Amino acid sequence: MGAMRIDLHTHSVVSDGTETPGEVVAAAARAGLDVVALTDHDTTAGWMAAVEALPTGLTFVPGAELSCVSSFDGGRPVSVHLLAYLFDPTSPALVAEQRRLRLERRTRLHAMAVRMADDGLPIDADEVLGLLPGDSPAGRPHLAQALIRAGLVSTVAEAFARYLNAGRGYYVPRRETPVETAIDMINAAGGVTVFAHPRRHGRTVSAEAIAALAEYGLTGVEVDHPDHDAETRAELRGLARELGLVQTGSSDYHGTNKTIPIGAETTDPEAFEALVGKASGSQVTVNGLGPG
Ligand code: AMP
Ligand code: FE
Ligand code: FE
Ligand code: ZN
Repeated sequence: MGAMRIDLHTHSVVSDGTETPGEVVAAAARAGLDVVALTDHDTTAGWMAAVEALPTGLTFVPGAELSCVSSFDGGRPVSVHLLAYLFDPTSPALVAEQRRLRLERRTRLHAMAVRMADDGLPIDADEVLGLLPGDSPAGRPHLAQALIRAGLVSTVAEAFARYLNAGRGYYVPRRETPVETAIDMINAAGGVTVFAHPRRHGRTVSAEAIAALAEYGLTGVEVDHPDHDAETRAELRGLARELGLVQTGSSDYHGTNKTIPIGAETTDPEAFEALVGKASGSQVTVNGLGPG
């Protein structure tokens, strides 16, 4: 038996991945993972289905990726994604804020689709939203799929480059949660937070802002992520050591909405144990046989 393989960042169709939660945990097992977290954007709706489908030998970590904004750099707003794990999903403040974010996501995606239609593109905003059930977290990858169906692009990546990225003319921002508020809510719900892909692309926060977040109550930082080059990983590793942050590694799997396979990046078992040791809001599930 080799070393434990742990992937702490994946998405299902419950947000903007392409596989059901059951398919995600099955893919995790096929990839030889021992531990997988489901971290759909702004929702915990996939947890139960993942637990019910959990293959033997796999440990499931309940999580979410929260859409936040940091104003630590001189008031300059910077988008921050916060991975949250092992929190109580019934915490009222958290439930209310996640619902607000999901409605915001729908309004915003509809507005982006209307901008496209107004510009003469063959996109029907109501139809795009109609394909997304109830208050599920609508995201730009769903609009990317509509652009593919309309024959305007052939891949999700092309859709982002030509139409969906900020600066392409169709972009509409969202009102995200102040990152301090999100850290407070997750800590109050017994969970832990990890700064997701801090250096992914576009505007990123300063090292000083990460230090301020560590001071504020952030638990970890995602060092190994497909969008981080070797230099970035070295910078984040140094920062994490200096600040006492837990270092994680994850694939940020989105099924076929991205090209990265599940398990492409992994977290050290000691780092995972450190996260579990600090959390008390919910439990991991082992083998689908109940809380472990
Ligand atoms: P949104 O949540 O609506 O702001 O859209 C952001 C999401 O789009 C991210 O969570 C990724 O899943 C996805 N995404 C962003 N850039 C790209 C890209 N270049 N290719 C594929 N997916 C992307
Ligand atoms: Fe996503
Ligand atoms: Fe993210
Ligand atoms: Zn993600």
